[in-house]
Amino acid sequence: MGERTDIKSLNLDELTGFVKEMGEQGYRAKQLYEWMHVRMARSYEEMTNIPKSLKEKLSEKCELVTLRSVAVQESAVDETKKFLFALGDGNVIESVFMKYRFGVSVCISSQVGCRMGCRFCASTLDGVVRSLTPSEMLDQVYSISRITGQKVSRVVVMGSGEPLDNYDNLVKFISLLSDENGHNLSQRSITVSTCGIVPNIYRLADEGLAINLALSLHASNDEKRKELMPVANTYTISEVLDACRTYFDKTGRQLTFEYSLVSGVNDTDEDARELSSLLKDLNAVVNLIPVNPIKERAYKPTDRTGALKFKSKLEKNHINATIRREMGRDIDAACGQLRKRFMESE
Ligand code: SAH
Repeated sequence: MGERTDIKSLNLDELTGFVKEMGEQGYRAKQLYEWMHVRMARSYEEMTNIPKSLKEKLSEKCELVTLRSVAVQESAVDETKKFLFALGDGNVIESVFMKYRFGVSVCISSQVGCRMGCRFCASTLDGVVRSLTPSEMLDQVYSISRITGQKVSRVVVMGSGEPLDNYDNLVKFISLLSDENGHNLSQRSITVSTCGIVPNIYRLADEGLAINLALSLHASNDEKRKELMPVANTYTISEVLDACRTYFDKTGRQLTFEYSLVSGVNDTDEDARELSSLLKDLNAVVNLIPVNPIKERAYKPTDRTGALKFKSKLEKNHINATIRREMGRDIDAACGQLRKRFMESE
C-alpha cells in the first residue's frame, strides 16, 4: 500500500480532483471539506451525510490528521493554556491558547524543534526534527477550538520552529485557514513571526496575502545580533529591514518588530538610540518582551523599570512600542520549554 493521502492538507480543488478520481461525485468534496475545516470533525464517523461506502474508502486511502492532546498546563494567573500535542509519528509539539479582551488568540508551532539556533530560545536546543504539514498546523487551531469550545479569532505562528524554513507548507496552511469555503479566518487576523530569512520574506511579499509580519530583531546592530541569533551571520540587519520594507510596500500590512530585552546585553540607552534610528522610517511597532530565562542559558530579563525606560526612550524618538503582556509565565510559556521538559522526563 502506498502513502495515504493527507486529506486535510488538500485545498478544495485538489480534494475535488481526488474525490472524482475515486469515482465519486464532485459535491462530496465540498461536504468533506466542510466537515474538516468548518465543523472541525475529528473522525469520518462524525460525517453524517457521507455514505458508509465512501467513509470506508476514505479510511483506507486517506489519513485524517488530528492531534492528540497529551498534556495541558493552565496558568493560575490568567486564562493562558499551553497544550502539548502528539503527532501521528509520536513527535510532540506545543500550542498556546491566550484569552484577550478582543477574543481568543492561538499560538501555533510550525516545526518540531528548530534549526535557527537563537541563543535564548528553548525550541532550538536540540535542533529541528522535521517540518509540520499544513494539516498539522491547522489541527492545532481546530483541536484547541474544539477542546476549549471557543472561537479562535487570531492565529499567530510564533510557537516552535521557523515558519519561513517551512515555506510551502506555511503558505498552504494560511490559504486553507483563510479560505472562505473553509475555516474562513481573515488573513488580517494571522501573524507570521520570523527570525528573518530574507529571500523568503520577499517571496511572501509576492503571495498576495494580507497577513501580518513580525520580525524577531532582538538587537540594534549586527555585532550584537550575531551573538544572539546565528541567522544574523547570513543576513545583515540592513538586508532584513529592506525585505521588511518591501513586504510593507507590497502588502500594506503593518510591521511588528519583536525585541526580547536581555539585561545588560541589548537594553542599554545606546541600544534604544540605535534601534530608533534603524526603524525610524518603517512605521512599525516594537514589541518589547523581557526575555524568558531558560535554564540552559545565563540570560536574564530586563526588569520592569528598565523595560519601561527602554520603551519611553523609543517613544521619545517617535517609535511606537508596547511591552508585551507576559502571559502564562508560570506555565513555561517560553517557546519550547514545555516540550523540552516533557521529553526530558520520558
Ligand atoms: N522562529 C520564529 C517564530 C518562533 S519564536 C521567530 O524567530 O520569530 C517566537 C518569538 O519568541 C521570537 O520573537 C523569538 O525570538 C522569541 N523567543 C524565543 N525564546 C524566547 C525567550 N526565551 N524569551 C523571550 N522571547 C523568546
